[in-house]
Amino acid sequence: MTNNNSNTPVMKQFLDIKTKYKNSILLFRMGDFYETFLDDAVVTSKILGIVLTKRSNGKASNVDLAGFPYHSLDNYLPKLVKAGHRVAICEQVEDTKNVKGIVKREVVEVVTPGTLMTDRTLNNKSNRFIGAYILFKNDVGYSFLDASTGDFFIGECNKKEFKSVALKYLPNEMIIPEEINYSNSEWYIEFKPFISKINNWMFEYNNAYRELLEHFNLKSLKGFGCEDLKLGISAAGALLNHLKTNLISNLEHVSKITPTLNAGLMNLDIYTVKNLEIFNSLSSPGKHGTLIDCIDSTLTSGGGRLLRGWLINPITDIKKINLRLSVTEDFVSNNKVLDKVRVLMKNSSDLQRSLGKISNGKITPREIIGISITLEKIDNIKFLLSSSNDKNLKKLGKSILDTKFISVKIKGTLNDPAPVNILKGDAIITGFNHELDELRNILIHGEKWINKYQEKLRSKLEIPKLKISQNRVFGYYIEISKVNKNKITEGFTRKQTLVNSERYITEDLKEYEEKLFNAQYKIYDLESRIFNDLCNYVLIKKSEIQVNAQILNKIDVLSSFALNAIENNYSKPILTKDQIIEINKGRHPVVEKLLPITDKFIPNNTNMDVSKNQIHLLTGPNMAGKSTYLRQIGLIALMAHIGSYVPADSARIGIVDHLFTRVGASDNLASGESTFLVEMNEAANILNNSTKKSLVLLDEIGRGTSTYDGLSIAWAITEYLHNKKNSNPRTFFATHYHELTNLELTLSRLENYHVEVKEFKEEIIFMRSVVKGAADKSYGIQVAKMAGVPKPIIHRAKQILKSYSVLQNKEQSVKSIKKINQINIFNEQNEIKKKIEKLDIDKLTPIEALLILKDLKNEIDS
Ligand code: ATP
Repeated sequence: MTNNNSNTPVMKQFLDIKTKYKNSILLFRMGDFYETFLDDAVVTSKILGIVLTKRSNGKASNVDLAGFPYHSLDNYLPKLVKAGHRVAICEQVEDTKNVKGIVKREVVEVVTPGTLMTDRTLNNKSNRFIGAYILFKNDVGYSFLDASTGDFFIGECNKKEFKSVALKYLPNEMIIPEEINYSNSEWYIEFKPFISKINNWMFEYNNAYRELLEHFNLKSLKGFGCEDLKLGISAAGALLNHLKTNLISNLEHVSKITPTLNAGLMNLDIYTVKNLEIFNSLSSPGKHGTLIDCIDSTLTSGGGRLLRGWLINPITDIKKINLRLSVTEDFVSNNKVLDKVRVLMKNSSDLQRSLGKISNGKITPREIIGISITLEKIDNIKFLLSSSNDKNLKKLGKSILDTKFISVKIKGTLNDPAPVNILKGDAIITGFNHELDELRNILIHGEKWINKYQEKLRSKLEIPKLKISQNRVFGYYIEISKVNKNKITEGFTRKQTLVNSERYITEDLKEYEEKLFNAQYKIYDLESRIFNDLCNYVLIKKSEIQVNAQILNKIDVLSSFALNAIENNYSKPILTKDQIIEINKGRHPVVEKLLPITDKFIPNNTNMDVSKNQIHLLTGPNMAGKSTYLRQIGLIALMAHIGSYVPADSARIGIVDHLFTRVGASDNLASGESTFLVEMNEAANILNNSTKKSLVLLDEIGRGTSTYDGLSIAWAITEYLHNKKNSNPRTFFATHYHELTNLELTLSRLENYHVEVKEFKEEIIFMRSVVKGAADKSYGIQVAKMAGVPKPIIHRAKQILKSYSVLQNKEQSVKSIKKINQINIFNEQNEIKKKIEKLDIDKLTPIEALLILKDLKNEIDS
């Protein structure tokens, strides 16, 4: 529809605004409703399942219309956004009472998947990030912002690494410059965030830099340590500008930007996060059976978010890890303080999100009271910890800032409990503002006056059931039943006739009504003003509140580590620089909790020292517990690097710079990505990037292809990891290829281990203990029998196995190792290589060359 003259004034206004928000669904506030028109109405009615109707638009036309009551916004908005739409919220920005003609309307906010912040859609214990991405040659500048908490990050990496970076933030939306083609990027394919393309100029370095300086009111970004991140600055400035200008967000609570440094952090790639089931289970949707589910005993939303952050970014600085461990240790040894702190922390409000809400003008009086209660709790925690005898707790307590004056100010202004909405009234305490108290008196007396007036009319007119009531449309009215109609005297003006009753107004009542409405209006106005002043005051004090919120988060996580340690019998790990892993009676933290009560988790020891036994090759039947054992080592190492106690009697862990986990295709079917190519990509990543400080967990690698190809690849990978000069990582390799166990004969730092089983009357019993030496056989047929495979098949399989295993005696295996070593491409003594090196190509005739080639081929084939 064009904006022509036949449109009604409201339609004209709508169309004017809509031209500026073409790519958004425009929610147009009309009284108590949000209306959508034209194409927006068709789309909205479909998504929300609401009726599509018509509204007349001037003499000649109708337009499509769909709407919902304003108070249902929190319910409907997420549905529109989750369906992939931007939604512009257009409000009436003038009081209708004071306006003649059409009320002024403005878009006050544009909501997208990255900025959806209704309480319903925010998971308290995780962030909701919107990100920005810019690519220059092979380098990426990026930035992530959680507008609900104010967490703002900036960084740079190479193109390939960005997928793992994005994994840490899981953005719901990414903004990118117009010219970037993203659809084939690995990160896009992996996460499929909502993409907003924005003007290139927003990403220009100078514009972006200026935007950041203006926002933080600074002269340089040196104080944040990100002055040199040129591409990062382009992304961060563009993000801030986009949010403020295009999405009309108020970001006053965003008070710092943090560079995401890789130094000092353990590298966790996307495969490891998936395979160790840190946040998501491989077998079922949701958190059940994940590490986070198992160890998250945090009581506050901020604590929950911090724990996630720590898990995504484990640290490698022993001093910092020990600092966390020592606080946990103090909590463990002083469980009275632990209990008290945890009682205090319960029901705290989310300070970071509350500050975000204040700056967006969406905070309620009740939530401000929540801030003051939480600040009081923090104050009590400060007192408790600072007076403790444990030095680490004392230090932590002393680092808490004094914010009592903020809670005193809040409690001195607002009633507790406070209303959920300032317009409900009665938010400000009596005695705070003289004028407000007087107006409230008028209201109280007004009600008394109405009651008295009602009594007076009842006796004067002799209508005992006469009633004075009010509604939003007519204001106050006197209501009598129709039978009493003839008792009405002069001075009563009829307002409305209903089926059984009549409604009137008198001059006296009208006068009083006006006085009351005026008072009411002034009260709303005054209460809102006082409330806004209070909000501004709290916002000015945001730095102190943010510091305390961060300390509270830390206390929450560390005290929850202590609780886990006590309840689950975890112990304090020792971190060292040596290339070792020594675990005494280690357990898998998740599996031990999920086992049925009838089963007991069998703990296992791990003793690896790279100089002696760098590779542990683990064999054993299906279902024996190989994967569990491997993952248990990975999880214990990870937990130690976040500063948590670990499920073991004791553990000494050499710092890990990169934790690699590769689970073979067959074990990863559930995630639907079991192609051999993916498996090899991941193997290549390990081979190329592992260092002497890395920890590599390989589970069934090579199984995604034919047996001999797979065996050869697994064999070559093991040799390579063993022989990699100066960068031999700690490696645990679980495999079904029994042939690999022969490698112990040729690789000096490879040791065989197996998960023990016992045979009993043709059945096998899983012992679950990991012991030295190779498994003698694979028991696959017994496992198949246990699983209920029909008897004739089991019988036939045994016959086949018998004839096949004749070919596989030890002698033959040793022979085959010798042969493999002859053609070993890593073997410097390789005869064929030597022969080729000796050839003088310039002096050879083509025939001679062909004959030599034939000889070489015969040698390989023999
Ligand atoms: P496959 O070769 O078929 O992949 P696997 O040897 O890797 O099998 P797991 O998947 O690790 O076997 O373990 C199978 C099941 O055994 C686990 O789900 C768990 O219930 C149980 N289990 C594993 N380890 C232990 C243990 N140490 N104590 C008790 N139960 C265990």
